[in-house]
Amino acid sequence: MRAGGLPILTYHAFDTTGSVTATDPVWFADTLSALTNAGFQAVDLASWIARGRPSVERGFALTIDDGLRSIFEVADVVARYRVSATIFLATDRVGSDNGWPGQPAKVPRGRILSWSELASLESLGFRFAAHGRTHVPLDRCDDTQLDEELRGSRDAIEQRLGRACSLFAYPYGRSNTKVRLAVRRHYAAAFGTRLDTANARQDLHQISRIDAYYLRSSHALDRLTTGKLEGWLRVRRTLREGRAAMTHPLSWRLARA
Ligand SMILES: [Zn+2]
Repeated sequence: MRAGGLPILTYHAFDTTGSVTATDPVWFADTLSALTNAGFQAVDLASWIARGRPSVERGFALTIDDGLRSIFEVADVVARYRVSATIFLATDRVGSDNGWPGQPAKVPRGRILSWSELASLESLGFRFAAHGRTHVPLDRCDDTQLDEELRGSRDAIEQRLGRACSLFAYPYGRSNTKVRLAVRRHYAAAFGTRLDTANARQDLHQISRIDAYYLRSSHALDRLTTGKLEGWLRVRRTLREGRAAMTHPLSWRLARA
């Protein structure tokens, strides 16, 4: 199979509610099983970035946004398959919940792991990266707040978890040129929500990911494990962008937050 882009999968909550941001823990285990059986290996995102984003045949990466406590539902699976999973943290919300201003009503509220709980996950394969301090959309921040969000979340992770923090994910996937320039000063790379696999041709501070919402069917999982995902994603992306343009310009992207 020709090495295409790297599928960087994005998860939020792990439960059976069926909400737009939830993944059934059993389905998550089935996904890792299918990937492993197809010869796929998880890539550690920070080292993939440090190595210049090489093309990886049958590679994938796991990311989990917001650091909800439901990560405990899949921690044993991550450990069993020996995969690296990067958790993006809105650091002021650590130990609290995801009920920040602007959180869409359809996203279920949940507790967020404490610093000590996060530290306990490191030996299982979890890694930590920044998602701002308060989960505010960064394109609405003035210069001072933007700097506090970017610098503050990195410093909190480095001080509380004792590990370098080089990666960032934009809250709601939202950024603009000014935001990306600021992020570049603080982080080696940053991730958005554009629905695509990742490759070295993309802006290093606007790397694409694939929301797990699009991997909920066995058909989609088959496409991923047989290397046929990219064409299908292109169609989904066109549909999503068309829908976002026709309805409220932020509604769809916020739903994928
Ligand atoms: Zn988030």
